[in-house]
Amino acid sequence: MDRTKFVLDEKKMPTRWYNVLADLPEPLPPVLHPATGKPVTPDDLAPLFPMELIKQEMSTERWIEIPEEVQDIYKLWRPTTLFRAHRLEKVLDTPAKIFYKYEGSSPPGSHKPNTAVAQAYYNKKEGIKRITTETGAGQWGSALSFAGACFDLEIKVYMVRISYNQKPYRRIMMEVWGGKCVPSPSSDTKAGRDMLAKDPDCPGSLGLAISEAVEDAVSRDDTHYSLGSVLNHVLLHQTINGLETKKLMEIAGAYPDIIVGCIGGGSNFAGLFLPFIRDKIDGTKPDLRIINVEPASCPTVTRGPYAYDFGDEAGLTPLLKMYTLGHGFIPPPVHAGGLRYHGMAPIICHLHKLGLVEARAEHQLATFKAGITFARTEGIISAPEPDHAIKVVIDEALKCKESGESKTILLAHSGHGHVDMAAYDAYLSGKLKDYDYPYEKIDESLKDLPSV
Ligand SMILES: *Cc1c(COP(=O)(O)O)cnc(C)c1O
Repeated sequence: MDRTKFVLDEKKMPTRWYNVLADLPEPLPPVLHPATGKPVTPDDLAPLFPMELIKQEMSTERWIEIPEEVQDIYKLWRPTTLFRAHRLEKVLDTPAKIFYKYEGSSPPGSHKPNTAVAQAYYNKKEGIKRITTETGAGQWGSALSFAGACFDLEIKVYMVRISYNQKPYRRIMMEVWGGKCVPSPSSDTKAGRDMLAKDPDCPGSLGLAISEAVEDAVSRDDTHYSLGSVLNHVLLHQTINGLETKKLMEIAGAYPDIIVGCIGGGSNFAGLFLPFIRDKIDGTKPDLRIINVEPASCPTVTRGPYAYDFGDEAGLTPLLKMYTLGHGFIPPPVHAGGLRYHGMAPIICHLHKLGLVEARAEHQLATFKAGITFARTEGIISAPEPDHAIKVVIDEALKCKESGESKTILLAHSGHGHVDMAAYDAYLSGKLKDYDYPYEKIDESLKDLPSV
């Protein structure tokens, strides 16, 4: 049998991030100020983010140096391993070659510390003492709490209530790393109190938790806000994963025909595919297919209009051009908490609009089934989010079986599911259900799109 694991020596870890904004065939639509409707300036964003991150957000430099202090922390778990899924291939009886790059070996168990550590570093350098943020399933809150511990920063996390109740272990992880975590909606902010007055049982949403974290950050001078996905600088930091993967695929003597990943805000998958899409844009690999997978219950890219919308529920953030289900949309409580966001990274939306990437929506029962197959072959118990991508990888591998083609499929595996056992328990005991596409709720929330 061919090799199973492909590893890079620590000394070969990339020292620069890749900025796709340098190579886009058409520039990204501008981010607009919510009050004026004009493109935002760096000063508009300064109450929320350190200037170095604002520069990265707007930069069109192709390569951006990774600070040495950040590289040193990355080395606690990076470079991460590329696997060939021989055992999954065998069970599927497919001629396809399946590879996966696994981000679950980081301390918080996902790709998220790739940006959390970088963001904490730039905030610390600017003299900030405290960072607020939101979290869905809790992966981002735990990643930022870990990063806060690395740079001695206070972290306050607003966690979507449904996940806070379903996933207590993530809150405990945050507390072990020194973070503070409250369920959102909370009574700590006006946005939270307003929602609680309207609906005391509100399960919360990422959009609402963002409103709370932003409100908290702008009300204090020593505090900034941090976002775990969606924005350009977050996707930039995640490209270290794709750059490693390119080197490792070369060592494996392979290049992907299809790359598959799950998208919540789009950061883990973009981090993997952006260094590859460069080859598609410049014509070296015109046939490369990139498949974004989202939940059928929150079908942002597959069903939403491409429009300007707020990043948060209360309408405090700048306006982003993206596929959106409306900033007031509260998705059904599926277990893939990290995929329950009404919008999507503008970079991914732009690439989709240009026809450079595709998107698919999957129901959760089918994704857990795929996750169980993966666990029983490759061993890894995946988070419910990457189970969505695994479902599509298996579908594509079975198509290869039918056609007899030996395609190379690369999976972006964003993290383990060790803190998601209740979800697997619900699936295995037959208690898990699918949620239909919530047409009426989405029609309702789309009525509130801002007019620009
Ligand atoms: C947060 C998270 C996601 C979704 O976020 P993206 O920004 O789309 O990557 C996916 N998988 C895991 C394991 C996560 O923690």
